[in-house]
Amino acid sequence: MRPEILFPLFAPVTSLKGVGARVAPLLERLAGPIVRDVAFLKPHSIVRRTPGSLSAAIDGQVMTFEVTIDQHQRPRTSAQPWRVRVSDPTGFMTLVFFGRFADQLETRHPAGARRIISGKVEDDKFGRQMVHPDYMVDPEKPQEIPELEPIYPATEGLPARRVRTFALEALEKATELPEWQDPAWKAREHFPAWREALERLHEPLSEADLSPMSLHQRRLAYDELLAHQLALAQRKAERRREAAARIAASAIADRVRADLPFAFTGAQDRALADIRADLAAGERMSRLIQGDVGSGKTVVAMCAMADVAAGGGQSALMAPTEILARQHYETIAAPLSAHGIGVVLLTGRDKGKPRAEKLAALASGAAKVAVGTHALFQDDVGFATLQLAVIDEQHRFGVSERQRLQAKGEAVHLIAMSATPIPRTLELTVYGDLDVSRIEEKPPGRTPVATRAVPMTRIAEVEGRLRQAAAAGAQAFWICPLVSESEVSDLAAAERRAAELTERIGPSVGLIHGQMPAAAKDAVMAEFAEGRLSVLVATTVVEVGVNVPNATIMVIEQAERFGLAQLHQLRGRVGRGRQESACVLLYDPPLSETAQRRLDILRRTDDGFLIAEKDLELRGGGDALGLRQSGFPDYVFADPFAHRDLIAAAGDDARLIINRDPELTSPRGQALRVLQELFDWKAGLALRDAG
Ligand code: ADP
Ligand code: MG
Repeated sequence: MRPEILFPLFAPVTSLKGVGARVAPLLERLAGPIVRDVAFLKPHSIVRRTPGSLSAAIDGQVMTFEVTIDQHQRPRTSAQPWRVRVSDPTGFMTLVFFGRFADQLETRHPAGARRIISGKVEDDKFGRQMVHPDYMVDPEKPQEIPELEPIYPATEGLPARRVRTFALEALEKATELPEWQDPAWKAREHFPAWREALERLHEPLSEADLSPMSLHQRRLAYDELLAHQLALAQRKAERRREAAARIAASAIADRVRADLPFAFTGAQDRALADIRADLAAGERMSRLIQGDVGSGKTVVAMCAMADVAAGGGQSALMAPTEILARQHYETIAAPLSAHGIGVVLLTGRDKGKPRAEKLAALASGAAKVAVGTHALFQDDVGFATLQLAVIDEQHRFGVSERQRLQAKGEAVHLIAMSATPIPRTLELTVYGDLDVSRIEEKPPGRTPVATRAVPMTRIAEVEGRLRQAAAAGAQAFWICPLVSESEVSDLAAAERRAAELTERIGPSVGLIHGQMPAAAKDAVMAEFAEGRLSVLVATTVVEVGVNVPNATIMVIEQAERFGLAQLHQLRGRVGRGRQESACVLLYDPPLSETAQRRLDILRRTDDGFLIAEKDLELRGGGDALGLRQSGFPDYVFADPFAHRDLIAAAGDDARLIINRDPELTSPRGQALRVLQELFDWKAGLALRDAG
């Protein structure tokens, strides 16, 4: 239950004065639906209103002057604005007013009066002017103009200054709350109290107070991170308490592995050892295997499935697309069935009698492993003893989808796999409720992919080389990104590209995109995999999560639009065999300096974890797009880069708290419950966690 002390903060924004039916949706868009969200709005800059002289006015700047009203110029038609000429000893300017109340101006500010005016200076063809000054006050009452004014985000119909009024009112509704931070840590970090920190957020004393590095912002960020880490730690502890089948390492799995035509890398060995330790513990496992595309995650999971089968249980491996599911099936079916472990492939395409037979095999336990897509968690799919769920590209599934699969057994162990490497510092925030094994090492024998950035102006050259390579038997991916608002026009662009390439290279150019029916996609993909197509144009990264060892060229159009991690993943589709591979990053010049540096990083390294680390550094936490794609939470205060030290600290703190006071009953525990409610991570959890 929500503590009463928080009620005012959790009231709808309409409980603020002046927020009615018109303003509420605007404020909700800027902040969120409740008063708390408005209290959590951050000013992004500060305006100082120290008067200067008119001769020093600068176009585009918010400035302040002490002036004399010279003359009112009435509009001649109703479409024209009311103009007021003002001056000081160094120059003059025109104030411009639109609207029907303009005629009151003359009585309020008669000619000859002195005023302090403040607002944005604009130079245009009528000369120097200020449209609707923010302030126009009597010099006898200078206190009516704030010396230093924080500027809030605004939106059409809701100017920044009104947003500030609402933010200050929301702040008033925030009362002092019991301290939830550890006193020693709080002292060490010089954190202010919560209420004080929030106040400083809205009343910054200088530009330094706007920085995420300021003490009050660090305090608020730490509060937010701790609330989240606590929720994750509780979740993890809860899962640990669930008894689950104890599964022993088996000789069968070792034989499956020994039959593979290669030896595991050290990192694969460690990942499998982690999994086996979890499975043997009798607690429900929730482990993430993080590793680049091609780092060998699937075969590790296969050995775990063999262990489960050896103990008489069943496993399900779920992939986000039919193509991927099919590929996984091809990877694991032969090695497992060679040792008597039956594997079935179940996708949306299975219908009628064949499907009924597969369902029967799973229901009776005759088949020990199911590989498939969303088809796996449909209502009529039942397992005899499902003990392990393996979810590939786990972020591509919703929580409820993952849960529906896991609900097909009791306390089902989970292996999640992700090919989106994220920096170690952020691992806790994205995967805090999972145990993580990282596969940082690639199987031997992979040749690095030669990567070049080429401006679009030289596309003809690229196409020419591609034609030669295709004639010599090479295969290539050509990626056209989905970038505009309209998928239709993006698709049209990809179709045009495919047509153009067909003209230059010949009929062996195929096109695959997200709007094609699954069967059509599979058909195109199969043609490419079998070498009947030499170039595959694709609109999305989705459909290329596949293994085509003969493909050695990757062309990415508008590479500057992709995040580094995405580019890295795309590039990982080539360079899988021993042949030389190439990746061409086509960009629209001119390239910004950051874009240039990002492409440089990609050229210099092939290590996904290193790339993720560098990407974070380059973004400086600013552009969070790529982070969000990797599942990074949408924090209000916490910045993934500026507060990376706090992430680790909050993780440790949360673990300690949950170990000592699992039910949060101590005085600090009680205060921490208020914190959790304040940030609402418990409610938000269902949207974010791994199930
Ligand atoms: P991921 O799932 O991480 O993308 P996979 O498990 O699909 O990677 O492996 C990619 C390819 O590399 C597969 O063809 C697999 O058989 C092969 N492979 C996996 N581990 C090794 C290894 N240790 N040595 C050589 N090849 C390997
Ligand atoms: Mg994979």
